[in-house]
Amino acid sequence: MTRRQRAFWMITVPLAVMMAMNDRILGAQEPTPQPMASRSGIELNSLDRTADPCKDFYQFACGGWLAAHPPPADQPRYGRFEELQERNNAILRDILDEAAKPSSGAETRQIGDYYASCLDTRTIDSKGIAPLKPELDRVDAIKSTADIPAVVGHLHTLGFGPFFGFGAAPDFKDATQYIATFGQGGLGLPDRDYYVKDDANLVKLREQYVQHVAKMFQLVGDAPDRAAAEAKTVLQIETALAQKALDRVAARNPTNLYHKMSLDEARQLAPSFDLSAYLKAAEVPPVQTTNITEPEFMKEFDRIISTTPIDDLKTYVRWHVLHGQTSYMPKAFDDETFAFYGTLLTGAKEQRPRWKRCVDATNADLGEAVGKVYVDRTFGAEGKARTLKMVEAIEAALDSDIKEITWMSDDTKKAAAVKLRAVANKIGYPDRWRDYSPLQIVRGDALGNSLRSNTFAYRRQLAKIGKPVDKTEWLMTPPTVNAYYNPFENNINFPAGILQPPFFIKAADDAVNFGAAGAVVGHELTHGFDDQGRRFDADGNLRDWWTPADGKAFEERATCVADQYSGYTAVDDVKLNGKLTLGENVADNGGLRLAWMALMEDLKTKHLADADGFTPEQRFFIGWGQMWCENRTPEIARLHTRTNPHSPGRYRAIGVVSNMPEFQKAFSCQATAKMVKQPVCRVW
Ligand SMILES: [Zn+2]
Repeated sequence: MTRRQRAFWMITVPLAVMMAMNDRILGAQEPTPQPMASRSGIELNSLDRTADPCKDFYQFACGGWLAAHPPPADQPRYGRFEELQERNNAILRDILDEAAKPSSGAETRQIGDYYASCLDTRTIDSKGIAPLKPELDRVDAIKSTADIPAVVGHLHTLGFGPFFGFGAAPDFKDATQYIATFGQGGLGLPDRDYYVKDDANLVKLREQYVQHVAKMFQLVGDAPDRAAAEAKTVLQIETALAQKALDRVAARNPTNLYHKMSLDEARQLAPSFDLSAYLKAAEVPPVQTTNITEPEFMKEFDRIISTTPIDDLKTYVRWHVLHGQTSYMPKAFDDETFAFYGTLLTGAKEQRPRWKRCVDATNADLGEAVGKVYVDRTFGAEGKARTLKMVEAIEAALDSDIKEITWMSDDTKKAAAVKLRAVANKIGYPDRWRDYSPLQIVRGDALGNSLRSNTFAYRRQLAKIGKPVDKTEWLMTPPTVNAYYNPFENNINFPAGILQPPFFIKAADDAVNFGAAGAVVGHELTHGFDDQGRRFDADGNLRDWWTPADGKAFEERATCVADQYSGYTAVDDVKLNGKLTLGENVADNGGLRLAWMALMEDLKTKHLADADGFTPEQRFFIGWGQMWCENRTPEIARLHTRTNPHSPGRYRAIGVVSNMPEFQKAFSCQATAKMVKQPVCRVW
């Protein structure tokens, strides 16, 4: 239903800028009242004072909150981000209800019509699968392999995802240019591991997936036997694709994803695939070059289309049409999709209320139109000014940090300082709002609205080929509770949605705000210098600006972090993947350190008294800890361990503080205490 990037706390796929991704694993919960922050900004009720902060800091900071917020039935994971998103959603609902009224003005007509159509399940049910029929007919009409490129190209313009992903993305080595980019894709399960690994949990999920696919085919009228055979075919083709897909750790290294080539070279990778026919159907302007992010995957794709019977290929493409838009299909399709993607994969017991899903969908497809009204209501000039001040303080801290560290040579330090000075700060919302006027939104045509929105977004992206990069553009909408660093543009971005309690508390003093919002800022800034970001230069180009010795020193320090987090248990016998989560963990550790340095600088000229029984130093760490309170199901813990580059909240909280002697001092912890790591890991 939605297309999302979650850089600060959830799944981020750096190259997803270009890919239409259907993310079905998000959820929300009933609006909760704004938590009562104390004078200092700490939520006293969220603490568990019976816990020893030196033994289990997460329980100390979050124990009260965890007990008061068991995971709701429709929300397999519920933490502070969801809590705030719920408050934002309540505001958005209000905006959209108003916009959906017949009296709504021209300015908000589109968002009102989109939202109302999404809510109108009676009309959706009454249409059956008719709105999808033109696309299903197109697949039925395929006669030979030669017909596949045109059909797949067209489906990609609508946001369906058979075989691979395609779009315009930055040229890694010339970030002023967008180029046509092919990437691996075409899977119905969340990751390649789900097809190729043989642990009991995954074997069972594969069986359940086949049953789910079969049920979906039955819902469009296929006999049970036929549907069962079709589902097996789907799994077989997807498994072949998955076997040649890069795993997530390998894909973290952008060098592994950069294979720029001429179209003729691309044709040699996939000789059975008529590239020209594909590009034409995919509405691509004339191009000379392309980046094939995973060449081995494209070769396998070619092998599959040249050796698989045409009826099987059609079955596979038909499946991707059938399951790409189920939120706008009759209830039986929506329910069946939830039963697999919601219940079995994430452990959610109930589907989220329709209005919440429709708020999300409107925000995903018309986010800056909704966001404009949202910002008018919630985010004043004061919020922007104070955040900017904090950002500048954190950047100054990184500047001192680079100067002070001992493991880097002067040459690399100079290059790092150049990169830091070039970082652009974007706060709250875009300077120019996106113009959606060419996008046709029709009241009562929910599925059509969704497809046209996908095409609108796709064409907007393709239109960037051959034009200068617009760095003022945002990849997240203003109401989003998240933030991101864009390595190709070397900028940090903080949507208005996250600049609120518990992340940013206007009434509180700097201690808690630096521990929370300050650490968010430091986190994004550090991404420019993590295992991935360090490979890009000040201009956003993939270029090595490190001396070999400094690169090696970085890797050694990063390995310490990777090993530390690999030792943490996600659920049962499943450990975190320290290599997958490395960039986020480096960013968390660097981010809180930078925020700490900025606060200490601040305290040189300003006195902060003790408040609510805590010193400013203690409040700083509690502000950090209280961002990470979350309850989650075992199912989602497993899913995220495989797919999410972010560690679970508990380890984001304690992994960082246990690396900080400043924490040990603030809470007077013994050197042997559990929250004191010996020796500490430190990159930045
Ligand atoms: Zn991050």
